[in-house]
Amino acid sequence: MVCFIYLTPKVCVKLSIAVSTMERNMRTASGIPISVTRKQMKSIRLRIRATDATVHLSAPHHVSDHVLYQFVQEREDWILKQKQRAKALPRTHPIDNSTRARNALLARVHALAPRWEQKLGVKASAFGVRLMKTRWGSCNLRTKKIWLSMMLASKSDTLLEYVLVHELVHLLEPGHNKRFYRLMEDAIPHWRKLHKELHGE
Ligand SMILES: [Zn+2]
Repeated sequence: MVCFIYLTPKVCVKLSIAVSTMERNMRTASGIPISVTRKQMKSIRLRIRATDATVHLSAPHHVSDHVLYQFVQEREDWILKQKQRAKALPRTHPIDNSTRARNALLARVHALAPRWEQKLGVKASAFGVRLMKTRWGSCNLRTKKIWLSMMLASKSDTLLEYVLVHELVHLLEPGHNKRFYRLMEDAIPHWRKLHKELHGE
């Protein structure tokens, strides 16, 4: 078994145990686990599975572990970004978009909204919920209608509230600029933590 030269001896010991099977595993410098499979193929392929955000590397037999390690190391930022994306996607459970589920989410929105409208000094013309898989919420600045994604139905009130406040703040500031983030900071000082939680970080 070949040791990755960039790793400390201690890590190498752990790896030598992990790679004794055909399906090898390795970790990036920051600790992201990667499953490595050797195949009859021409180039190295790296992919992040959308269903569970796991990282898979396939490589031809002749490529050394050292080269593979370097390969993933150079792409660590990309891997992290793709993992976050995959985690933010709705999981295996199909989203319940029935009238009952929509009404239930809308009721939660209506329970949370007045306090924040008052606090921020804004008023949405209406709230709506719909199946949106690529965004948590949206705000129509012309009509002042706020839409929230049915993906929020499975999230806590705290996270729902965070998205709601984000959209309400857009009624004060359309762009994601300094002013927007200052207003978010005033409204929910720990919003960044909630943002991370929402995106599965
Ligand atoms: Zn926004």
